[in-house]
Amino acid sequence: MNMTKLSYLQAMDIQSWHLKNPLQSSSNDWDRLRTEVANCTACDLCKTRTQTVFGVGNTTAELMIIGEAPGFYEDQKGEPFVGRAGQLLNAMLDSIGFERSTVYIANILKCRPPENRDPRVEEIALCSSFLEKQIALVQPKLLLAVGRIAAHALLNTKTTLGQLRGKLHQFNNIPLLITYHPAYLLRNTKDKGKAYQDLQLVYRTLQTI
Ligand code: SF4
Repeated sequence: MNMTKLSYLQAMDIQSWHLKNPLQSSSNDWDRLRTEVANCTACDLCKTRTQTVFGVGNTTAELMIIGEAPGFYEDQKGEPFVGRAGQLLNAMLDSIGFERSTVYIANILKCRPPENRDPRVEEIALCSSFLEKQIALVQPKLLLAVGRIAAHALLNTKTTLGQLRGKLHQFNNIPLLITYHPAYLLRNTKDKGKAYQDLQLVYRTLQTI
């Protein structure tokens, strides 16, 4: 099942989530969702995780960063984007005046795939409702997907990341931009300039929406 189909099937659930909290999310909503994730055994990744990696940051952020899945350090620490990739993400955000603590950061998958393999379609389908609920609770002005896997999952496409960059997309009626994953940029430093352009677009977009 792709994410678009899943989004449709879960629309009522997301709607009722909002209706219970018409003005803003409460700490109860977050606690409930966090507990749901921590106890999740919907896919086999629960058998190999050290812990779930829920998400971190400002729960009323204007900008929400979405990656693909926890890696080794994230699985150990229980926080997304730590280690060298996390440091680079922090620097990317800093280049447009955002401290890490001012944005909300989450992954499509909440558990680490063994050996950092790519997430499987069925894992994304089973896990994506958690991310959708996080997005519904944060209600960011702008989403930034980092990396091919996150972009493809959110947009239900196989279009290359190079073609997805530089364009304003939508996910659940929220504007969405795409850039490279920091781990990719650590291996392909020649593309850092393009990532910087993407971050500039993030900054400009936030000024206009
Ligand atoms: Fe549940 Fe997602 Fe972890 Fe799979 S990856 S066990 S669906 S929280």
